[in-house]
Amino acid sequence: MALEKTDAVILKSFPYGDTSKIARCYTREYGKISVIAKGVRKSKTLQSGYLEPLNCVEFLFYRNPKRQLQIFSKAEYKYLWRSLKSDIKKITYGFAVVELIDRSVTGEEPHEELFQLLVDVLNAINRCEGNLNLIYWFFVIHLLSLLGFRPHLSHCPRCHGKMESGFFSRVYGELMCKKCYGEAGMSDRISISRHESNSKFDGQGFVVKIRAINILKRLKRANVEKVDQITLNSGDRKEVGGFLNHYLRYHIEGFNQLKSFLVMEKLFTK
Ligand SMILES: [Zn+2]
Repeated sequence: MALEKTDAVILKSFPYGDTSKIARCYTREYGKISVIAKGVRKSKTLQSGYLEPLNCVEFLFYRNPKRQLQIFSKAEYKYLWRSLKSDIKKITYGFAVVELIDRSVTGEEPHEELFQLLVDVLNAINRCEGNLNLIYWFFVIHLLSLLGFRPHLSHCPRCHGKMESGFFSRVYGELMCKKCYGEAGMSDRISISRHESNSKFDGQGFVVKIRAINILKRLKRANVEKVDQITLNSGDRKEVGGFLNHYLRYHIEGFNQLKSFLVMEKLFTK
């Protein structure tokens, strides 16, 4: 068993037995791993605090690739996200981000870009004085791209025609042009853009207007440092947020059950 060092974001942790703690972490070098910190809850060295969700730490652990649970040794902070952890809105968005990573990443497969996206986005949430939605959307669209589920925003994936207003098909999980959407046999059930992000609207799909598509394109190109400066009107939140939520529902299994997503819907969509 070798002593290894890695950067990690803690996704989830829980007590184990009377004195120990188990944490699930997304690491730069080893993908998603679980570690057990034995006896840490009664130790006086404060190492227990490092293994709380939304922490970014560098830690040492004893790694045995044949085991599912690795043995934590010690850690230090990479970032102290004080603002993120003292603001209920930021905490909720932060949890949504780590839950989505937890849900969409399965094994010990390192993914440098995805790890960096996670750290950059949590840093941006910590620093943000503007619109947290924009940072969350930025995360979602880049996460989808890195996982291979990038939505087609410029051209229809079926006929390759230029995308003006698009139609999202809940059957196929993709955005397509009006003609192809019609041909897919769903045009009679279109529920035109009256959806809300938490709606249970009827029909197999909905319109995504060109304005929302342009915002999605800007999010894809934007720098995470400046993404919260994009100006939105009151309809954009529903349009862009609604599209991304439905897209995630289709492509990420179990998205509907994410706790932070349910909290976010209750707190911030009224
Ligand atoms: Zn088409």
